[in-house]
Amino acid sequence: VTDWQGKHVTVAGLGVSGIPAARVLHGLGAVVTVVNDGDDERSRAQAAELEAEGITVRLGDGATLPEGTELIVTAPGWKPDKPLFHAAAEAGVPVWGDVELAWRLRGPDAAPWLAVTGTNGKTTTVQMLASILEAAGLRTAAVGNIGVSLLDAVLGEEKYDVLAVELSSYQLHWAPSLRAHSAAVLNLAPDHLDWHGSMEAYAADKGRIYEGNKVACVYNVADKTTEELVREADVEEGCRAIGFTLGTPGPSQLGVVDDILVDRAFVENRQKQAQELAQVSDIAASSRGTSPGPPKPAPHNIANALAAAALARAFGVEPAAVRDGLRAFRPDAHRIAHVADIDGVAYIDDSKATNTHAAEASLAAYESIVWIAGGLAKGATFDELVANSAKRLRGVVLIGADRALIREALARHAPEVPVVDLDRTDTGAMPAAVREAARLAGPGDTVLLAPACASMDMFTNYNKRGEAFAEAVRAMAPEAP
Ligand code: ADP
Repeated sequence: VTDWQGKHVTVAGLGVSGIPAARVLHGLGAVVTVVNDGDDERSRAQAAELEAEGITVRLGDGATLPEGTELIVTAPGWKPDKPLFHAAAEAGVPVWGDVELAWRLRGPDAAPWLAVTGTNGKTTTVQMLASILEAAGLRTAAVGNIGVSLLDAVLGEEKYDVLAVELSSYQLHWAPSLRAHSAAVLNLAPDHLDWHGSMEAYAADKGRIYEGNKVACVYNVADKTTEELVREADVEEGCRAIGFTLGTPGPSQLGVVDDILVDRAFVENRQKQAQELAQVSDIAASSRGTSPGPPKPAPHNIANALAAAALARAFGVEPAAVRDGLRAFRPDAHRIAHVADIDGVAYIDDSKATNTHAAEASLAAYESIVWIAGGLAKGATFDELVANSAKRLRGVVLIGADRALIREALARHAPEVPVVDLDRTDTGAMPAAVREAARLAGPGDTVLLAPACASMDMFTNYNKRGEAFAEAVRAMAPEAP
């Protein structure tokens, strides 16, 4: 345990992680200086509050290392190539992120962490996991990028048996000593490469989640990189590599047989080859539109459920609790959310599909789709997404700043598909897009908002984009009797 009394700590970034970190460190007796690039009205107000509590704040200069700094605690979003970190490296000053700080401050009898990362599906998987752990009667919370903050979970009054922790690649980059009970990497696709510098660096940061795992490293059988990361990790003796697959599971894997989630990794009964966990339909909270038969979850949510089940089973949770937890699970808003059925057409809001990998998973869940796409591309290319999804597309409506990139990919790989390019980036474009989509769709089709792009060209965030979509859909629906 570090003695914080009088220790000079610099907190980088006056944001959602920086402000609580500064307060906690100050409370422990550290001499805290917050440095921040911005110097706007909002940061000045926040600075004034912290200053009143005895914390020094330096606005408009996040580059210079304050004299005497012994440790930097950084906001996860700060890029590793910033001058502040060069100065720190030269001076031999360690840099921790918010996760590292929480990990170091946790008490001796603290709850173990079941950790989840991946390009897509983190929030969903962590919420499924928390739901399963709760069904098992464990005191738990979904923490990290979502729900309770990690610092609160570690230092607060509430006692936990186990934590379901969502970790971003940024957070993992800055968390060198984190050692989870068990961890999963759901998938890896190019994202945030401007921050990490390269795909290799991005994968390496994600792979940090496996370092020092005690019981299980959970990987995606369909994504070889995740398995390689397990192989490269330095884990505790006896820690196992556990795969999950949408197909029939091999030994040490969880998978799907005849629409049943099956565990071949943690089988207590030696007579048995496999343990049944749940029906696929137990995860049906996410709708599959108007396709015939009982509602089915999107395939990517079956994968997320298997990853969550693997972590829960690694922690010793019974099969019945996996089933009950998956039944109780409800997805967060704007993740394959069913908005309405109008004239035989299902309207689905997956505004959270903010990159091509997510949108591809989303499109794979439906048969005949009118796709609403576009926004900020963040340097992505759309050829693979469009080529892999072309046969499901009945029509496309494009909005947003970078729609030309998608239009060109459609011309190359899906020349037959009718495309309406709305040529608009104002918020009013959404109702127009929904009307155009309704015109292109016929009975049995799904109108799917899965933009494959960020929303900030037109909206404050993906929530606002999804709300605009849902509002426009409801405005078309006939009045309820
Ligand atoms: P994250 O927290 O990683 O952003 P979410 O659970 O919020 O992930 O899901 C974001 C979007 O990613 C969803 O709306 C869906 O389009 C897509 N998605 C979810 N799970 C997966 C998965 N396992 N593989 C690919 N895409 C996924």
